[in-house]
Formats: sequence, C-alpha cells, structure tokens
Amino acid sequence: MCIWFLQLFWRDFFYTVGFGTPNFDRMRGNKICRQIPWNNDDELLAAWRDARTGFPWIDAIMVQLRKWGWIHHLARHSVACFLTRGDLFIHWEKGRDVFERLLVDSDWAINNGNWLWLSCSAFFYQYHRIYSPITFGKKYDPTGAYIRHFLPVLKDMPTEYIYEPWTAPLSVQTKAKCIIGKDYPKPVISHETASKECKRKMSEAYDLNKKQNGIVSDEDLQNLRTRVEDQSQATVPRRLKQKLI
Ligand SMILES: Cc1cc2nc3c(=O)[nH]c(=O)nc-3n(C[C@H](O)[C@H](O)[C@H](O)COP(=O)(O)OP(=O)(O)OC[C@H]3O[C@@H](n4cnc5c(N)ncnc54)[C@H](O)[C@@H]3O)c2cc1C
Repeated sequence: MCIWFLQLFWRDFFYTVGFGTPNFDRMRGNKICRQIPWNNDDELLAAWRDARTGFPWIDAIMVQLRKWGWIHHLARHSVACFLTRGDLFIHWEKGRDVFERLLVDSDWAINNGNWLWLSCSAFFYQYHRIYSPITFGKKYDPTGAYIRHFLPVLKDMPTEYIYEPWTAPLSVQTKAKCIIGKDYPKPVISHETASKECKRKMSEAYDLNKKQNGIVSDEDLQNLRTRVEDQSQATVPRRLKQKLI
C-alpha cells in the first residue's frame, strides 16, 4: 500500500477523535489534553510568527509558510515543537491559530490534532525528545540551500555557520554582508538552556496531571505556573532580549 494512502488513516483518525471529543480545539475542558502551564509571551510569539527567532531553520520555515501557505510535514514538526515544548513554551493554541490562518490545507481536526500531538498534550508523550532547531535541518540540507532561498539575507553566510550564524566571527559576518543583531536577529533564546527548562516544566506538569488524574483546576495550574516560573528565574539568566528587526 502506498505511503500517502496510509497517511489518510491519520486524517480519518483526527476526524474521528475531533468529532467525539468535547473541546478538542482547546486545552481547558478537553479531557484528552494534558493541562500544561504554558507561558504568555507575546514578544516571543511574534518573533516565531514573523520569522525573527534568530534560528535560520525555524525562520526559513515560517517565511515559506507565509509565502507559499504550505510547508513540509517535518517542517511543521520543527516549528511546532520549537514554539511549544521544545524551546519557547508557548501555548499550542497560539501556534494552531497561526497555522489555521496561513495554511492553504488548513483543516480544523487535522491541525488541532497535530498541535496536540507535537506539544505532547495528547497522543504523544515523549516530551524529552526535542527537535533541535540547529541540527535537525542539517540532516536533510547540509549546505543550507533551503535557508538561503527563504532568507536571502543569509545567502552568503559560509555553510559552516548557516544554521548558527551568531557563532560566525565578525569578519565572516562582514564579508557575508550580514551582521547578526543588525541585518538578522540574534537567537531569542539559548536552545540548550531553553530545552532543558521545557523538559523540567513538562515533567512537573505531567506529575501534576497524573496526581490529579487529569482533573487539574485553574488554581492548580496557576500554582504550578508560579512555581515553575520562580524556579526558572532562580536558575536561568534572563533571556537575551533582542532588538526586533
Ligand atoms: C503542527 C501540524 C499541523 C498540521 N496541520 C494540518 C492541516 O491543517 N491540514 C492538513 O491537511 N494537514 C496538516 N498537518 C498534517 C501534514 O503535515 C499534512 O497533511 C502534510 O504535510 C500534507 O503533505 P502531502 O500533501 O505531501 O500529503 P501526504 O503526506 O502524501 O498525505 C496525504 C494526506 O494524508 C493526510 N495526512 C498526512 N499526514 C497527516 C497527519 N500527520 N495527520 C493527519 N492527516 C495527515 C492529509 O490529508 C494528506 O493530504 C499538520 C501537521 C502538523 C505537524
């Protein structure tokens, strides 16, 4: 049986679960969705949406989404994981809304189902498995041709720096006519630190959901949010506040 035909089973799976699950398209009141204390950070959300995260792989995908209205399935995985449980810890509903508006193949059940999946809110629970915004794309496109196409500002960046241009010496940036922090943004977070923080928050949220048997009140969630944020402030230096360009 060919692969695209098998993929249709996923479509019908999400249609079926979406039809039978009250509040399938939100976290609150959705009994299959883990209750997670996502951050409210409109600045980071805008950086992701507008392709200004400073991670060329993520930004190139978001440019393609805006220009073409279509991105590959694994590209959807990358940016959805980055926005939610991988790096920025922003609510999957916000990412879902952006996809809903920009995708030409936008579909209520499939879009919500996949955001639930990618954010480890339902269906998939291995939150320690995070897509790297640096190494994942490299596997498929080692020279960064995709990035150069969708982010022409980086077209002359040498291949060794194309996925992490902020590590290029200033002389290299000057020669490539792309100064990081001026012509292209610095990364909005450190992936290493942010992904560790995300795993810790996910672990605490999963513990709470298990303890409460999935019945997590607004108060429980707020208490958890306060606790995980307090721990973050104590252990993580304030994130790089880039000047948005
Ligand atoms: C965060 C996220 C959001 C998504 N939002 C949408 C959406 O709004 N609309 C949409 O059609 N697909 C969505 N997808 C699923 C998938 O990415 C696309 O269906 C796929 O990229 C289509 O590529 P294709 O045309 O090559 O189809 P193929 O890979 O050849 O698959 C054929 C058909 O099978 C179905 N299908 C394939 N993968 C999936 C999947 N994971 N879940 C459900 N059905 C699938 C689709 O109807 C697709 O057209 C989303 C995936 C992610 C990770």
